[in-house]
Amino acid sequence: AARKLAAGNWKMNGTRAALAEIDQILTEAQPGCDLLICPPATLIHAVATKGIPTGGQDCHANPSGAHTGDIAADQLRDAGASHVILGHSERRTDHAETDAAVAAKAVAAHQAGLIAVICVGETEAQRDAGETLDVIAAQLAGSVPDCATAANTVLAYEPVWAIGTGRTPTNEQIAEVHALMRDRLSARFADGADMTLLYGGSVKPGNAADIFAIPHVNGALVGGASLKASDFSPIIAALA
Ligand code: 13P
Repeated sequence: AARKLAAGNWKMNGTRAALAEIDQILTEAQPGCDLLICPPATLIHAVATKGIPTGGQDCHANPSGAHTGDIAADQLRDAGASHVILGHSERRTDHAETDAAVAAKAVAAHQAGLIAVICVGETEAQRDAGETLDVIAAQLAGSVPDCATAANTVLAYEPVWAIGTGRTPTNEQIAEVHALMRDRLSARFADGADMTLLYGGSVKPGNAADIFAIPHVNGALVGGASLKASDFSPIIAALA
């Protein structure tokens, strides 16, 4: 069965002062679910040192070289990371990352021994045009490399229009996409049935339990509500 995961994506938020939140979050650790914090790169080592699973928010596809400002998967691992978020919609938009680029990064992550948290999601225009399932299927096909397994890959469905907006899809809309993801991954990978599938986009303490009750939702990728233990801890408790 898929493992449950409560993952926090701090995005470009937080300085060392925010490390106190990690101590608080750790007090909420539950045996029934895995935790993950993906802080900005500047805090990866410090967060990992506290003993909580830690992830980067991106990595380069190459193992080293002349790529100013980028970070290799092996460097994330060396800093203490066990995971890396790849293909977040903010990376796809701000840095023009294609599905092929995301897949190449995921291969690099796997080679470095990192678990790739690969993100997919439709824009509002795509949803309005009735293209959601086609978009998600294409992103899965293009962004998830053949070397993916339930042990080295987590998928996150993050509708672009639900990120940071306070808007969430209906439970039926989430269920439809997660069922499609489970179908496609199970058809393609021997252990696709065991891959952890997250929902992300305006997950809050008040809606977490409802979202976690949806079939094939094995946890959440939480942005704003992962920055404060007072918000993230009840989300962890709802999952465990
Ligand atoms: P919010 O939880 O702030 O909507 O962000 C979701 C997200 O993008 C997590 O990766």
